[in-house]
Amino acid sequence: MARRRDYDVAVIGGGLLGAAIAWGLAREGRRVAVLDEGDVAYRASRGNFALVWVQSKGLGMPEYAAWTQRSSDRWAELAAMLKDETKLDVAFARPGGFHLCLSEAELEKRAQMLMRLHNQPRMVNYPYEMLDREGLRKFLPDIGPEVVGGSYSPLDGHCNSLRLLRALHAAMKGRGATYLANHVVDRIDPRAGGFRLVTAAGEVRAGKLVLAAGNGNARLAPMAKLTAPVRPQRGQIVVTERVRPFLPYPIVTIRQTDEGSVMLGDSVEEAGFDDSVGSGVVAAIADRARRMFPLLGGLNVVRSWAALRVMTADGFPIYDQSAECPGAFIATCHSGVTLAANHALELAPMIAGGQLHPDLEVFSARRFDVPKVGRA
Ligand SMILES: Cc1cc2nc3c(=O)[nH]c(=O)nc-3n(C[C@H](O)[C@H](O)[C@H](O)COP(=O)(O)OP(=O)(O)OC[C@H]3O[C@@H](n4cnc5c(N)ncnc54)[C@H](O)[C@@H]3O)c2cc1C
Repeated sequence: MARRRDYDVAVIGGGLLGAAIAWGLAREGRRVAVLDEGDVAYRASRGNFALVWVQSKGLGMPEYAAWTQRSSDRWAELAAMLKDETKLDVAFARPGGFHLCLSEAELEKRAQMLMRLHNQPRMVNYPYEMLDREGLRKFLPDIGPEVVGGSYSPLDGHCNSLRLLRALHAAMKGRGATYLANHVVDRIDPRAGGFRLVTAAGEVRAGKLVLAAGNGNARLAPMAKLTAPVRPQRGQIVVTERVRPFLPYPIVTIRQTDEGSVMLGDSVEEAGFDDSVGSGVVAAIADRARRMFPLLGGLNVVRSWAALRVMTADGFPIYDQSAECPGAFIATCHSGVTLAANHALELAPMIAGGQLHPDLEVFSARRFDVPKVGRA
């Protein structure tokens, strides 16, 4: 007979969002269950580029720039807490990061974009600089002759994101959370005082519910009277063999990992749920990287993969509590590495307390409820 279990909070999804929130809830003393799919699930959390990135975030929603900066500012604290609780070092570093341009037109476009970002009303005032080639060479002596300039922000950083996922899982389990693999939630039944989650492996009941199922949120959200207009967006990544340390700063599309390999990324493709790797895209990624750092041309590629981002129409996160089913929350975003500190240290305590802070109202999916304009 299928088993039934009761918890304070059930989190659907064991990716970076679900694990960070579950750990945060467990730290608040809640009895938490995390329901996740099996090994073949789509998981952005296992295929990302591992940047903790600020410099380009928030054009069109300055509150997102502030939210991102806050997470970046708390990331060192997050890494230290994870190390303390799990002994795992997630290799976080915030040396500042660069965006490199291969033509004057690219450089001009970049400068204009950052100016528009910073000219927005209510924009947080974080530091960034546009640099010409000579300015860049002081930080990055190995750039190729085609690099004409770029942008820099001291707030940018990176980590080992697979280790981050592992550490979050270890930390949430260490705090007593129950991880239920192979528990695909087929149905959510809101009922008095909580929620009943139906899975083929048994039923789980909880007082509160957090939807953190990545692209799975689109299907699950209506069951808790929420909306999650998210779509998969493919990104491909190429990894080289290990090499001597040569790149002390992350570049938005190139970064040397703590283990010595170089990650090259990452494409932006609308391909539905197709997560296959295409040699044309991989070649284009490698070529652009080689033009930025010619020494990369001599390295062997050891791996490439594709993974699916969780993308909203405007690219900004969704954080909501259901008005019709109070106690049901949703969290989804395309920068779950960057925002991990906020999810664990800020969002989870709000959920534990039963209320999202009014500052998060701007991230409600209600922003997509634009009345249709038709002809009379
Ligand atoms: C190529 C690429 C590069 C990226 N680079 C960066 C970067 O540099 N920096 C950054 O901050 N972010 C980056 N991201 C984004 C980041 O990886 C995601 O924001 C983050 O992983 C999303 O985590 P998630 O937990 O919401 O989703 P996922 O990792 O997709 O996890 C969702 C989980 O929910 C489970 N699930 C789904 N449906 C159900 C169901 N019905 N029942 C039970 N479980 C269910 C799935 O099995 C899965 O485990 C990148 C993403 C990609 C694809």
